[in-house]
Amino acid sequence: MTITAPHASTGNAPLGNALEQLRAAAESLEIDDGSVQLLSQARREISVGVPLRRDDGTVEVFRGYRVQHNFTRGPAKGGVRFAPSVDLDEVRALAMWMTWKCALVDLPYGGAKGGVAIDPRRYSDAEIERVTRRYTSEILPVIGPDRDIPAPDVGTDERTMAWMMDTFSVSHGFTVQSVVTGKPIALGGSLGRATSTSRGVALVALAALDRRGVAPTAATAAVQGFGKVGRHAARFLAEAGVRVRAVSDQYAAVVHTDGLDVDALGRHVDAHGTVAGFPGADPMDHDDLLGLDVTLLVPAAVEGVIHRDNVERVRAEIVVEGANGPVTTAADAELAARGVLVVPDILANAGGVIVSYFEWVQAKQTYRWSLDTVESRLRDRMLGAWDAVSDEQRARGGTLREAAMRIAVARVLDAHRNRGLYP
Ligand code: NAD
Repeated sequence: MTITAPHASTGNAPLGNALEQLRAAAESLEIDDGSVQLLSQARREISVGVPLRRDDGTVEVFRGYRVQHNFTRGPAKGGVRFAPSVDLDEVRALAMWMTWKCALVDLPYGGAKGGVAIDPRRYSDAEIERVTRRYTSEILPVIGPDRDIPAPDVGTDERTMAWMMDTFSVSHGFTVQSVVTGKPIALGGSLGRATSTSRGVALVALAALDRRGVAPTAATAAVQGFGKVGRHAARFLAEAGVRVRAVSDQYAAVVHTDGLDVDALGRHVDAHGTVAGFPGADPMDHDDLLGLDVTLLVPAAVEGVIHRDNVERVRAEIVVEGANGPVTTAADAELAARGVLVVPDILANAGGVIVSYFEWVQAKQTYRWSLDTVESRLRDRMLGAWDAVSDEQRARGGTLREAAMRIAVARVLDAHRNRGLYP
């Protein structure tokens, strides 16, 4: 079966990997070619110029995107990324993965993603606010609480979401809390949202250890990325008794064979902006983290980091994809052949969109849930999805990713079939 998405790419590019995963699921589910075409292309894409008047009065223009891959099961949902690497194909891949993730954990959403090709560290806070507001007003016609609900991703945070919500609300003349998620608590953010992705990552990592018969206290871990996902994932794993041996960010990596003091490392990063120079550990080569002899490897930074050329270095028994798309298709096949258990992104990092959904529901209900309620419902959904994927894998074989994709793609297709084709 061939997929003729107009911009299909190959190799390590995320869109090539996303399409390859869809192709494998379609083959296994024996889906007809027309339906595969439907699922392989975005429903709606918008590309916008985002001009910025800099603090010194000069003007720069950035490219911004919003891709709604699918909204057959409900409004589109997905993060906004501010990073120099952002381009249309990357956003397309991330939007497609959001469709499968929302379907896998059975949220009433489709998938979307957005981004601006900018390095936020090179601009002042006031400049980033202006970029955010202009980007929001450029994509205003396609977002909204029942259309498409953005959230934070790489390079954006709750402050970005507050500016997006404010821009949308001012343009409508009233406050619309449910237009974005991942907001500050003071603006209707949900308790537990900030750590939800990491909590989910830790929950499935512990479930994977259990499946392999390894007690958390006998396990070791290496975490790539110490941002919103990696930082708290490392903390939750350490709290469960796992020795987190190494952590990296985009600048450096640090290692301590007996286990890092993750809280102290967090305080160091707050003070210095990087893990480099952390006094409680030794520096290590950035690239060596992926090859450490650990039980769990948690890539929680960016896509495509474990690929055909470095996969032979991976020695972990279990890889938990905190990031979206960190393992390429070629590397995935190699890890499967070696018996490495890979917990796929659409399952492993779904905690963030689950609590985003809870935040949206709370905003629509104008009723706040307690932290206990949020966390116990998150736990139920994550472990329910883990069980469903494990059962599917045991029943029909293949990898956890293939099992997760079969469940997700079948749900989206079922929604399409029920709705029919218009006209
Ligand atoms: P973030 O910007 O908060 O953190 C990213 C971290 O990765 C930073 O520590 C950065 O220094 C580091 N990094 C970047 N390039 C690196 C490299 N080559 N090697 C090592 N470290 C590197 O972003 P985030 O929100 O933590 O997102 C991380 C990943 O998780 C992304 O793939 C994102 O799409 C995915 N994700 C995030 C959420 C969420 O709720 N934030 C939810 C689901 C998935």
